[in-house]
Amino acid sequence: MTIEWSEASQSVIHIAMEMIEKYHPHLKEANIAFVYRSEAATNKGRKVLAQVSKFPIRLIPLLDEEYDFLIWVSKEDWEKVSDDIREALIDHELCHCKGNKFAGWSIVGHDFEEFTQIIERHGFWNADLLQILDKVEKYHQLEFDRLSKNLLDAVDEEIHGKVEAIKLPSAELEGAME
Ligand SMILES: [Zn+2]
Repeated sequence: MTIEWSEASQSVIHIAMEMIEKYHPHLKEANIAFVYRSEAATNKGRKVLAQVSKFPIRLIPLLDEEYDFLIWVSKEDWEKVSDDIREALIDHELCHCKGNKFAGWSIVGHDFEEFTQIIERHGFWNADLLQILDKVEKYHQLEFDRLSKNLLDAVDEEIHGKVEAIKLPSAELEGAME
């Protein structure tokens, strides 16, 4: 099936702004463009629901605005999943975005990688994996806190950068993506 690229919906933008406000305040300075990819991609046999990159240079002349990052989201999957999953997905992509306006922006990799069967056989056997245990405990604590608190976050005029859905010819986007 041909991959179609289109403007991301406002639900993507709302969640991105919320995640930036909560967890990625340094990205308030960044200009982040979102597009929909009609379906998920596959990388090394795994389904990829969203992906961030530095804004492709070849797309810059096609837009009036300048962007630092481009994030695509699988439209098909976005429409199927709950807000919790949507938040995790966007939060994950935003974790790859590092830097600032002055020093410039870059993409960082994941902080751990492992096969599930290794964890099954050997447990959390190295320092990176041991950190996960700590994070899992923290997550459960947070979940507990969430039950007793109402976390309503207002996204306000503090944001100087932009989080926007952009519209570009599908063929141009296809060519710019790896
Ligand atoms: Zn990632």
